[in-house]
Amino acid sequence: AGPLDKEQMQGLRDIREFLKVRTSYDVLPLSFRLVVLDNDLLIKKSLNILIQNGIVSAPLWDSHNSTFAGLLTSTDYINVIQYYCQFPDQLNQVDQFRLCNLRDIEKAIGVVPLETVSVHPMRPLYEACRRMLKTRARRIPLIDTDDETGRQTVVSVITQYRILKFIAVNNEQHTMLLKKPVGELGLGTYTNMATATMNSSVLDVIHLMVKHNISAVPVVDEDYKLLNVFEAVDVIPCIRGGAYDELSATVGDALSNRAEDFAGIYTCGEDDRLDSIFDTIRKSRVHRLIVVDDDSRLKGIISLSDILKYVLLYGEEDDSIRS
Ligand code: ADP
Repeated sequence: AGPLDKEQMQGLRDIREFLKVRTSYDVLPLSFRLVVLDNDLLIKKSLNILIQNGIVSAPLWDSHNSTFAGLLTSTDYINVIQYYCQFPDQLNQVDQFRLCNLRDIEKAIGVVPLETVSVHPMRPLYEACRRMLKTRARRIPLIDTDDETGRQTVVSVITQYRILKFIAVNNEQHTMLLKKPVGELGLGTYTNMATATMNSSVLDVIHLMVKHNISAVPVVDEDYKLLNVFEAVDVIPCIRGGAYDELSATVGDALSNRAEDFAGIYTCGEDDRLDSIFDTIRKSRVHRLIVVDDDSRLKGIISLSDILKYVLLYGEEDDSIRS
């Protein structure tokens, strides 16, 4: 291993050490807003609430038992869409579904339910990261349980982005050491890319995301040049008001309806290094990086989970995370 490799490994070790001495609670800002939805709410209504609050996910609360009931995410809406596709004559029923029916929907369409993991806010942040990687969760709820009464409190939810940003902001001297090009590290996915064109239907792209178990599909032109990215969260405005028939619209139309404050798309080259990616994460709300060549042709994709996995597990004995 050359000096670059040594420095890179040192940087990774320092960041891992940092994650072990900080807690999930440390990631939270001093004050924040938390929208929790009642599990009895109609799914249709939950869509409007997310859109009105400018959020794409919310913890669910079972008010009959006073317990945390899981995390609502865009995957749940994608499941409802799949249900509608499999049982198209049940639109009336779909309209009446409540958030507590989401588990029944999973069963009906035969998807394996996502494990509902959570962590205690005062546990090391490293633990939250490991748990996210193991379950492939993109966000993890922080749940506090009272020792005496056993009562649960939903404290907040932390995302992969928030964790990576926390690392970026507090470890500039360590991320600086990560100077190996991402292409050389093989960071991300560069083969069998799932892509769409502006004329693909939203429904086709949803099926693609389900099939590949991914949260975003790059939109390219006939020369494979990157035009945009359709994300799982872009599904939410598409079905606002229960408009499932509008899923036959094109990706181009759906993307033109994006909110004004859309964070944008971030690209990088295969020669870019993790230190500059951490600079980007420090400054902007990145959800993933699309790897392009000098002619903006699509080469690959680096998801936040790819980065988190590398930072936590590269060079460790059990970097398989399948344990
Ligand atoms: P995240 O879990 O961070 O949301 P994704 O679910 O999008 O990330 O990605 C999961 C894995 O699939 C990652 O290893 C990523 O590199 C890969 N991946 C993401 N999008 C695509 C795509 N459109 N085509 C092929 N592979 C992808």
